[in-house]
Amino acid sequence: MVIVMKTTAKREDMDNIERLLERLDLGAHISEGSERTIIGVIGDKRLLDGVPLELMAGVDKIVHIVEPYKLASRAFDPNPSTIKIGDETIGADKLTLIAGPCAVEDRDQILEVAEYLKNCGVGFIRGGAYKPRTSPYSFQGLEEEGFKLLAEARERTGLLVVSEVISTEFLDEAARYVDIIQIGARNMQNFQLLREVGRVKKPVILKRGLSSTVEEWLNAAEYIINEGNYDVILCERGIRTFETYTRNTLDLSAVPLVKEISHLPIIVDPSHGTGKANLVTSMSRAAIAAGADGLMVEVHPNPKAALSDGPQSLDFPKFSSLLDEVKKIAKVLDRSI
Ligand code: PEP
Ligand code: MN
Repeated sequence: MVIVMKTTAKREDMDNIERLLERLDLGAHISEGSERTIIGVIGDKRLLDGVPLELMAGVDKIVHIVEPYKLASRAFDPNPSTIKIGDETIGADKLTLIAGPCAVEDRDQILEVAEYLKNCGVGFIRGGAYKPRTSPYSFQGLEEEGFKLLAEARERTGLLVVSEVISTEFLDEAARYVDIIQIGARNMQNFQLLREVGRVKKPVILKRGLSSTVEEWLNAAEYIINEGNYDVILCERGIRTFETYTRNTLDLSAVPLVKEISHLPIIVDPSHGTGKANLVTSMSRAAIAAGADGLMVEVHPNPKAALSDGPQSLDFPKFSSLLDEVKKIAKVLDRSI
């Protein structure tokens, strides 16, 4: 439920409502727009049965959110969310670039990528320390050592670190080293993991499940937000279809759709979305043109030797030209990188 205030509402009107909600053990999410303030009510709405909220000073109307997800919905917060991490902002006019290898393989590799990205002006480095691999015989990641190497890369370059957590067991460990926790496609509906990242005070990138609908994806975001962590960034990474010439079918229509129905920022991963390095630049351009708030791209110093996802990874020259292309589109859209 959201309480829409009148354009003439005063500060004390909002304070009164906040106090009332507090007395009833309900939370309030205040969203101050340029015209009016909207108060999202958090908690069991039945506690408000019989309370004449509509009659309170400053209240224009009460809107009941019909979607199954509430806190993630645009109705709950009509202003697009922005997420602040260090000096970086995700969402609004800013385009966020996250790049790096699929997996952290060794110290030289990750530091080389970090130095390169720093020189490109990219703000975030990605790299898997725990890898959810289809085959148990494939490289599974360096585990905690991988997180340590990413933290070292941050110390040297100032880049912020994104890395995946595949189980609740490693969540405290990850929180010590990473700036953004990634929940991978395979874990999008690992509800216990979602609840627990909701209690961690770190932003979360929530990738879309391999076969998930947009509604399931937003419900997954709801699990995280419902625990108190509003800093959720959605990541479209392709879904499984009958097509086999690409690894996944990158659903770019999800970008403007999600923007319409949710206030959460959304980025696109064209690497997993296509599985093919030669398609990554085109789909990056298209993603930004479609309104995405950023990109997550796999970059490796030597893709042919990569221990995972080499065929979809860009080498440094290819990533540099992707950046040039994306900057052209960003300029047309008045978005900064
Ligand atoms: C990854 O980012 O390396 C990854 C495993 O992605 P996804 O969860 O989208 O498959
Ligand atoms: Mn990968």
